[in-house]
Amino acid sequence: MAKYVLVSDPTLMFNYHDFPLLDFLPCAPSSSIPGAIYNFLKGDIAEPLEDGQARLAPYPVRKLEASLLRCCSPRDVVVPHPDFIEAFIKEDTEVIGVSTMDPLGLGPLTMSYSVLFGSSSYPWVRVEWEALIGRLNRARRGTRAKLVVGGPGVWEFTVFPAELERLGIDCAYQGEVEDVACLLFSQAFEDEFDANIFFRGFMSFDMNFRSSYRPHERFVSRRPGGKRYPRLEEIPGIVHPAAKALNEVMRGCGIGCDFCEVTLRPLRYYSFEQIVKEVEVNVRYGGFRNAWLQTDEFFAYQHGPLYTPNEEALTGLLKAVMDVGGVGSTNPTHARISPPAAYPELIRKLSDIVHAGPSNWIGVQVGVETGSDRLAKLHMPLSAVSK
Ligand code: SF4
Repeated sequence: MAKYVLVSDPTLMFNYHDFPLLDFLPCAPSSSIPGAIYNFLKGDIAEPLEDGQARLAPYPVRKLEASLLRCCSPRDVVVPHPDFIEAFIKEDTEVIGVSTMDPLGLGPLTMSYSVLFGSSSYPWVRVEWEALIGRLNRARRGTRAKLVVGGPGVWEFTVFPAELERLGIDCAYQGEVEDVACLLFSQAFEDEFDANIFFRGFMSFDMNFRSSYRPHERFVSRRPGGKRYPRLEEIPGIVHPAAKALNEVMRGCGIGCDFCEVTLRPLRYYSFEQIVKEVEVNVRYGGFRNAWLQTDEFFAYQHGPLYTPNEEALTGLLKAVMDVGGVGSTNPTHARISPPAAYPELIRKLSDIVHAGPSNWIGVQVGVETGSDRLAKLHMPLSAVSK
């Protein structure tokens, strides 16, 4: 029915009644939140399209879909609605690609909840993950389809690699994928990976962020010493709408906090034009009136010297997004806490552009921060900014 079937952890597809931060519900232990309450609070998944595909899908799935469409026809790449996954997995299916964020429940909030609730039961995110993988394995029985997982949660399998075998997963891909997606999928089906591009194993870091490679038959990553990341021009724009109206504005950060992996990735800033195109896809085909701008550090977008905020770039970015027909509001996902303290005027200008106010709260999620000068200088010297 379809050569490549792309799905995601279902916890990334519920609407959580659009209640702020309720998206973190699946991080809670399943023994602490009864199933009936969990099932009510998680809300619904957007109605499927007429052909059974998902109307909205997590942004990483949309990026993978766009990457595969560069070498495949649209009928070969499908993103099923969760109710119709089995209908698309048939004898001609070659790869089922699954994107995941926290498959084993080792994410920071999930672990914090386990401690807070004093629970050793599976968190809901892991319950949902195992149910999904069980479904996929049953659906592909009797076919040659390979089960390949990827996404930001793959690091959890590097800690517990035996889980891949226990769950019947053929291969976990570690890293950004856009520039090699077509090769990865065709070679995963054949179970033959080009050693000039791929490494049969995974990369891990020690406490000092020194990387090393470990061979493992169920992992694939980029070859040591080879190209590790797609260039900006190799990252395609999404062609179908993303859940939550998410779209990226940059990758990497560069500020260099010594505990952070994001900063090890090369900086790539999307142009206003690229950003606007993705916002338009979400508005036109997803019915959204907002745009949620994904960065790991919003104020680093096209930053100035020593990572001071670039007012022209930040105001231009928000203006460009707010000017998209149909967009009524926008907000960034993550940011440092120090720029608002050092640049209140900038925050006022940005707030005006996005019409922030008592009836339109704009919040960002901050990462690890400290009020200690000593700790900031020691671990995140460029994170604190001053005029
Ligand atoms: S500012 Fe945030 S994303 Fe950037 S290096 Fe520091 S912790 Fe990482």
